[in-house]
Amino acid sequence: MNIIKPILMSALIAAGTNAFAQEFYTDSAFAAAVANGTRTTTGLPGNNYQTNFAHYNITADFRTIEGHLYGSETIKYDYNCGQGDLNSIVINLYRNVYKDGVTKHRHVDSRDKFKGVEIEKVQLVDNGRYTDLNITEYGTQIEAALPAPLTKGNSITLYIKWNTKIAAFSHIRGGKYNQDTWFVPYFYPQIAVYDDIYGWDRVQHSGNEEFYFENANYDVALTTDQYTAVWATGVLQNPEKVYSPTVLKKYREALSSGNITDIITKQDLEKHAVKSEKNIWKFHADSVPDFVFSCSASSQWTAKNFELAPGKRTTAAAVYRNPIFRDNVDLAETTITYLSHNRPGVTYPYPWMTLFEGSGGMEFPMMVNEDLDVLWDDMIFTTSHEITHTYFPFLTGINQNTYGFIDEGLTMFVPEYLQDSLTIIKNAISRSASYVSTVLGTTIERPVITPSYKMRELWPFTMSSYYTPQIGYNILEGILGRELMDKALHQFTSAWSRKHAHPYDFFYTLESVSGKDLKFFYQNWFANTGSADLGIKNVYRDDTTNYIIIENFGEKYVPALIKITYMNEATETIYQSAEMWRNGDRTCTIALPGPQISQVELLTEYIPDNDSQNNNFYIQK
Ligand SMILES: [Zn+2]
Repeated sequence: MNIIKPILMSALIAAGTNAFAQEFYTDSAFAAAVANGTRTTTGLPGNNYQTNFAHYNITADFRTIEGHLYGSETIKYDYNCGQGDLNSIVINLYRNVYKDGVTKHRHVDSRDKFKGVEIEKVQLVDNGRYTDLNITEYGTQIEAALPAPLTKGNSITLYIKWNTKIAAFSHIRGGKYNQDTWFVPYFYPQIAVYDDIYGWDRVQHSGNEEFYFENANYDVALTTDQYTAVWATGVLQNPEKVYSPTVLKKYREALSSGNITDIITKQDLEKHAVKSEKNIWKFHADSVPDFVFSCSASSQWTAKNFELAPGKRTTAAAVYRNPIFRDNVDLAETTITYLSHNRPGVTYPYPWMTLFEGSGGMEFPMMVNEDLDVLWDDMIFTTSHEITHTYFPFLTGINQNTYGFIDEGLTMFVPEYLQDSLTIIKNAISRSASYVSTVLGTTIERPVITPSYKMRELWPFTMSSYYTPQIGYNILEGILGRELMDKALHQFTSAWSRKHAHPYDFFYTLESVSGKDLKFFYQNWFANTGSADLGIKNVYRDDTTNYIIIENFGEKYVPALIKITYMNEATETIYQSAEMWRNGDRTCTIALPGPQISQVELLTEYIPDNDSQNNNFYIQK
């Protein structure tokens, strides 16, 4: 299908007389941040905007047979952003979601129910002195009380010793895939985000909603056994210490040649791809919002290093047991190139992107855990979607716990043109539009801006996070046009790079880039509920001009894609953006000079529409 997005065509609208200005729901905490000068109403960060930052030094030992991880970490935490002094530090222990008694909104396999993260020590490190801190544990977080307040502009260093069992069977974003293959996310105690709008993020992790991360530098030394190789966020610092000579040679070739290279092949696996049974893998990552790792002694590895911009290169890689997954390296390169040069047009920020054949589709900084999709179209969708998450939430620091509709919505929307140019069978927009048609105005619908952590049921959560906002961004592109939407996405992504963007920052960016007041649509689509249903009320004509009256039978402001057939059998399709509902009118009259019309039809493949009975109008000859 060629037209995945409507071509903008002008038609004359009979202007409504109803002067009607709609406001968008105001978040008082955001308004306070604007008053404090950390946020603005232009979509750009305020002059007083700052973020906190952490430096993690983690040493961990993963026993792959028992699936247990023993670790310790030193965290230097820079407190730059906040209101007043800090008397405590909030730390996330996401793996406590597997603990009995902790609220879960995802199914946990009974074999994975264990006692969570065991915290052996939390200490303050000051000039070589270690002082135990009092900690309070609640659900998936602990709070460590500081003996003296931490004042703004200063840092503290914490030492934490911990161990945790890794869930093998539940496959919630990670797990065990065969006797030696694991994907291990969210494994270490991680300081929660403290941002300029809400302070500490105290949202408990229940398995359903996602995450909110602070940027940090990581130095991680990870020991694994069973001759496993390790892939992780960051850049490996000691390849000569961990790979067999053959694999090391191919690893170096891959990084210097620019050719697609099979670094670990089946033959390499037969005689071990790594140096010894146990190896220490050292990774470093700069300014990333999380660290994740995977390991395997039975996975192959293919990579390609390529140029992003003069002097800037990255490496796309696939780690797989099924050779079909190898082709994902090409898809990763295509996606990264598209995101860097087209939409959002911001250079891919990391030195690696490793796609790991595991389960589901889950994004991590520089890594994706992904099912093997047998259908190539599904692989295109998942791979391009997950890599787009590099920008939303990671680069722009979005709070996924609360605002899934920004990170998932944009991740559905941004790669649409790319997906459409690559796929054969499916069209991501028409599928989403049909889901949205059936859900708007029903008991499944929630206002899109409902905080993600409050939507405990999967389907309302999925609609509000993915499909409804995706269609909303398409409708906004219909109002702005492709060029302005490109400009807005680029500006938003650049301005909020390595910061924490709020949904209002995105909404204000669209307004300032386009010069349009879009609150009428924000309120209608993102804050209100109701059905979408346009119909054709009447078509009539005077001497020279046809008039088409479109009626909005629903509550939502949707655009109209109108196919017109003339008496002379010529046809044309015109697009009327949702701007026609700006004044709150229930009908819109479109004036079309030209020959007499014989039929008018509303096309709804890409536009939600609850009732197809009122979409056709025939005129007798
Ligand atoms: Zn996603």
